[in-house]
Amino acid sequence: MIVAPGSTIGIIGGGQLGRMLSLAAAQLGYKCHILDPHERPAATDVSAHFTRAHYGDTDAIEAFAKAVDVVTYEFENLPVGPLRSLGDKLRPGARSLAVAQDRAVEKQFIEECGGRVAPWRQVSSLEELHSAVEQLGLPIVLKTRRYGYDGKGQAWIRSMGDTAAAWNAVAEEPAVAESGIDFTAEFSVIVARWADGRHALWDSPENEHREGILRRSTAPCSDAVAAQVPEAREAALRIAEALGHIGVLTVEFFASESGPVVNEIAPRVHNSGHWTIEGAATSQFEQHIRAICGLPPGSTELAGTRATMENLIGDELNLWPELVAEPGAHVHIYGKGEARPGRKMGHVTRVSYRA
Ligand code: ADP
Ligand code: MG
Repeated sequence: MIVAPGSTIGIIGGGQLGRMLSLAAAQLGYKCHILDPHERPAATDVSAHFTRAHYGDTDAIEAFAKAVDVVTYEFENLPVGPLRSLGDKLRPGARSLAVAQDRAVEKQFIEECGGRVAPWRQVSSLEELHSAVEQLGLPIVLKTRRYGYDGKGQAWIRSMGDTAAAWNAVAEEPAVAESGIDFTAEFSVIVARWADGRHALWDSPENEHREGILRRSTAPCSDAVAAQVPEAREAALRIAEALGHIGVLTVEFFASESGPVVNEIAPRVHNSGHWTIEGAATSQFEQHIRAICGLPPGSTELAGTRATMENLIGDELNLWPELVAEPGAHVHIYGKGEARPGRKMGHVTRVSYRA
């Protein structure tokens, strides 16, 4: 299936990822149609059409799908049911979504693909959590199976006494308990896969998080991390292949003493790939559009010697006057409303061209 420039791409979700996808699609002559339940999502400033509807609204999704040539999504917390009927028009498909949105299904799937994950247990009661703590040892991170992002829906258990509070903190939702990994660094593998199995990989960025939120990504990564990238890429490609994934897939890793450990997968463009907009020949956003539309892969070569992306979180957005005055700093402001604490409001990328 080739979706030619001039066609309309439907994007479910109108946040910053939908916005940057729309911008990349526009460059190639596509129009975008956003579906999102909010009043004025960030992507609608830069896209041609907007349907305001809930993600579970089957009738609205059916009408939306009829109005566009291909449908993609910018995040994974969507009801899969209404999307199943879209078949091949949905790229990536429903399978990628179903696996990535449930941490228990996701971990099992990664293990079936031969990927290494932190030792984990499924827990649905405080009793089960107690026995998971006994079996896995401490420290443990408790994570809700669904709807977590930016460290939300997570609680650390560092001593036995934390267990009840942690269970309370995840609101007694079905969860997974996983061993805390004593990692040396975090990094991601970002891969774009085409329907015929072709794929493209970027340099793996090294990622720094604070309080569960990505702060900074740097590409290329350090030598110590680079040594783990080949094994990580193999695991990511096996996952992409097993999902029959079309478009960009991101696999987050911990670099540990025993090798790369998969943290989680995202069936979409990812914050740790924002540096590719100026730091690589083809951005993750353009590549996603190319892959879902059946255009050939673009080069993923680094544009300079090094790219660093820093997020602007909450009131850090107020730094914009000095950032836009900084020569060579690529400032991205998402045009979201209120700069609430912990909310991703923009990012800035710096590309170095020196050896
Ligand atoms: P989210 O969906 O919110 O991104 P993650 O599972 O990626 O959730 O967790 C966010 C961050 O929390 C990770 O990038 C990492 O820094 C830390 N973290 C999560 N799980 C573990 C773990 N098992 N061991 C150590 N750190 C962890
Ligand atoms: Mg994560």
